[in-house]
Amino acid sequence: MAMPRPDLAPGAPMSSVDSPALLVDLTVFERNSAVMMDFVRSHGIRLRAHGKSHKCGAIARLQQAAGAIGLCCQKVSEAEAFVAAGIRDVLVTNEVIDLPKLRRLARLSGRARIGICIDSVLGLERLAEAAQEAVAPIDVYVEIDVGAARCGVLSTADALSLIDKTGMGVTKLRYAGIQAYQGQAQHLRQPAQRQAAIDVAVRRVIELRDAMAQRGLPIGIVTGAGTGTFYLETGSGVYDEIQPGSYIFMDRDYRDNETAPDTPRFEHSLTLLTTVMSARPDHAVVDAGHKAHAVDSGMPAIFDRADLVYGNPSDEHGVIRRKGDGPLPLLGERLRLIPGHCDPTVNLHDWLIVHRGEEVVDIWPVEARGALT
Ligand code: PLP
Ligand code: MN
Repeated sequence: MAMPRPDLAPGAPMSSVDSPALLVDLTVFERNSAVMMDFVRSHGIRLRAHGKSHKCGAIARLQQAAGAIGLCCQKVSEAEAFVAAGIRDVLVTNEVIDLPKLRRLARLSGRARIGICIDSVLGLERLAEAAQEAVAPIDVYVEIDVGAARCGVLSTADALSLIDKTGMGVTKLRYAGIQAYQGQAQHLRQPAQRQAAIDVAVRRVIELRDAMAQRGLPIGIVTGAGTGTFYLETGSGVYDEIQPGSYIFMDRDYRDNETAPDTPRFEHSLTLLTTVMSARPDHAVVDAGHKAHAVDSGMPAIFDRADLVYGNPSDEHGVIRRKGDGPLPLLGERLRLIPGHCDPTVNLHDWLIVHRGEEVVDIWPVEARGALT
């Protein structure tokens, strides 16, 4: 059950926000959004922002209003939440094989443009069966493995055969293009490593594009890319659309990527408010543990306190120690943690407390929190 909406009126001071609470600094968020929109406009590429990072209808609407062509998500239940929130174009950048879920997706097609990825004949057959209930045609993207060794067909021949089968007598499906996302490249720390990985991805797309051209057919929309590499896919000239999600928040894991000069930069807009609940001479204990933030990508950093480190997370606690000469925080003092990984951290919270500096300006529900199906 979702927690009740925090009792905070706009204008409330940040000191009245109970902890742990997930905060979005709206000024920084808007700067991140503007950096991305400037990038996509100046490069003539489409932004399909990934909603898996925020799962939040208010953020999706802001991205749509700023000029994103639509949203991506990974789950049918996320697509349902985004369509309910007023998003007009939603692509599930994932394979779905269960018929009941596919039927739910098909039913959404009356309310928004809906797309989905496939990488198997069975997936296509199930989708075709479910699409009988579709109101409008569903966009089908064939996913190719561009080096991440996750989903996607491996060979150009398999991709061509799936593309051929898509639309064969299935009027409610429309072949739309290729999903070519290189997830393993996103957090390679050196720019040259990311470039090398995306070069491989681009070569795979070009091979398929050339094979399609030999048949006199366009490849359609080529979509993919995340926060770590979107400028590379864009620079290749082969992609039509990028799918970054984390850029809007910037977590500690992405901060640890080294960036080349002249690449777009994002700042931390997402922080976790936490309170020192117990203190000793050599450490302080805060009220944020595994149930408040995800540490799968490493520990959080501490906003504005490079002299402190967070460690030893347990269910409800974390331990703060000194790294430099600065003082430990005192009992009752509050800190803001920069989550190690934004997506699974947001999924732990029902509400985002939106602030400008020291003032609460809004509260956004995380409607698709826990949307797993
Ligand atoms: N596209 C797909 C298919 C993804 O799985 C992801 C994230 O895992 C993204 C885009 C966005 O990545 P990021 O949040 O790292 O920008
Ligand atoms: Mn992530």
